[in-house]
Amino acid sequence: YHTLRLILGDQLNANHSWFKQKSDDTVYMIAEIKQEATYVKHHIQKIGAFFLAMTEFANALKNAGHQVIHLTLDETQNFDNFTQLIASYSKQLKISKFEYQRPDEYRLADEFNLLNFDSNITKKMYETEHFLLPFEQINQEIEENKHQTMEVFYRKMRKRFNILMDGNKPLHGKWNFDQANRNKLKKQDLPDLPTPLIFNNDISGILLRIKKYKIETIGTSGNNLLWPVNRKQAKALLKHFCQSCLAQFGHFQDAMTCQSDKKWSLYHSRLSFALNTKMLHPLQVIQAVLKKYHAQLTQPPEIDIAQVEGFIRQIIGWREYIRAIYWRNMPKYITHNQLAAKRDLPEMYWHAKTKMKCMSEAIQQSLDTAYAHHIQRLMVTGNFALLVGVEPKQIHQWYLAIYIDAIEWVELPNTLGMSQYADGGLIATKPYTSSGNYINKMSDYCANCQYDVKQTLSEKACPFNSLYWNFIAQHQVKFKHNHRMSMMNNLWYKKSQQEQAQIMLHAKGLLQNINNL
Ligand code: FAD
Ligand code: SF4
Repeated sequence: YHTLRLILGDQLNANHSWFKQKSDDTVYMIAEIKQEATYVKHHIQKIGAFFLAMTEFANALKNAGHQVIHLTLDETQNFDNFTQLIASYSKQLKISKFEYQRPDEYRLADEFNLLNFDSNITKKMYETEHFLLPFEQINQEIEENKHQTMEVFYRKMRKRFNILMDGNKPLHGKWNFDQANRNKLKKQDLPDLPTPLIFNNDISGILLRIKKYKIETIGTSGNNLLWPVNRKQAKALLKHFCQSCLAQFGHFQDAMTCQSDKKWSLYHSRLSFALNTKMLHPLQVIQAVLKKYHAQLTQPPEIDIAQVEGFIRQIIGWREYIRAIYWRNMPKYITHNQLAAKRDLPEMYWHAKTKMKCMSEAIQQSLDTAYAHHIQRLMVTGNFALLVGVEPKQIHQWYLAIYIDAIEWVELPNTLGMSQYADGGLIATKPYTSSGNYINKMSDYCANCQYDVKQTLSEKACPFNSLYWNFIAQHQVKFKHNHRMSMMNNLWYKKSQQEQAQIMLHAKGLLQNINNL
């Protein structure tokens, strides 16, 4: 072969310009490798999903007439990393060109930057052709180490790609319709929840390899994987979302329930794995949503603008913005610990055994499905970690491990920045903390919990309550000038000294007993 082209597990983009032409001189390599299966202790479904999606992609390329080397752990067991693997195969195949696509993670970008070949082999990097904001424009859009709101970025993206625009103005006069969204699910809403579209992908062969090579994992998995592993399935999931979830997406975006039985993903799309592996392109997702929206513009429309805008904002706003923050601020970003948090991650995060219903539900669902929706991540598990002061690196590694969609470029800013305020406010204008009150407002967890969300000091009191005030008290000086925190700071100052002391004492007791909550 003349050229070896490496395809990473999250580069399964069949529409990439690489594949427009076929050449017998070019061979594509897709490789399962221990390095990628062990850089954190991943959820077993996550490894299953990546490895199977890679197999499917390799087969699709072969069927389309490309030359493909697909390696499993059986063939790569002696290579510690990509550097060794590529060096060995370059020699074996006697190539003169090594080509790869820009890695989304700093870790791999760094490794490939450092790849050195003999003078007779040239190295070339291509763009992945996936993201809407070109990589080289990130520096123009985002300033290093400086807070920039997502909303400003989002509006620019709307204009630039002419999405939901009426000339130069936002369609229906507003950029953001969040106000119309965010309801709690009531009992009468539950029967209408859509049944999740799940797939029965056989991963038994991969599970055997995971066992054979002693790859440590978390979570559970049967032989059948529910996640989409090829374009056909990814498109089916997108269609399912447009048909069965979009009309209520925004209304119940922040809602949580423990009464939904098998309808665990509510109105969320669960497209993050298909998007992050690039099986789907963000514009493809947006176009499908817009098509559905325009096809039903009767009076009154079944799907209103708030649902569509709310969803599109996640894709062209949050997703692209988070990636830009990551690349603008790495590698320093990962070291931030603005609130000097240093507690070890409580054990409940690994086994879900806790009397706190919200935590046990969010963690158990994550262990069972490798999925939790945004508010479960942000306002339950993330909120708790922030209130008790978990070291950012440890909670980052937990999120990176457990979720099907967790790749560092998207997971890290969400965790360190949005959820833990460890970056000192590059993403969030204030820490995303709350007492039990918010969780009670958005869910039915509290009604099914052994703790009492209305109490703060008794033995039965919801732990989130005193921990919340304890957090406010602990960081009051730091947030003295943050006007978004001033209301809570003032409420704390208004409490009598005696009450403050009681709350702090109660919180201290909880923190000392954290593994028994
Ligand atoms: P939906 O609710 O249906 O949203 C649609 C799509 O919008 C998602 O598929 C996703 O691509 C995009 N999106 C929504 N919110 C965000 C966001 N904040 N950042 C980036 N994209 C977003 N998302 C990941 O893809 N990988 C992660 O590792 C990840 N880690 C997170 C960790 C924490 C602590 C938090 C608070 C959020 C994290 N998110 C992550 C963002 C978000 O929670 C997930 O994208 C979402 O829950 C995926 O489920 P869904 O596809 O059903 O999303
Ligand atoms: Fe969670 Fe507190 Fe509600 Fe229990 S009472 S579910 S611990 S918020």
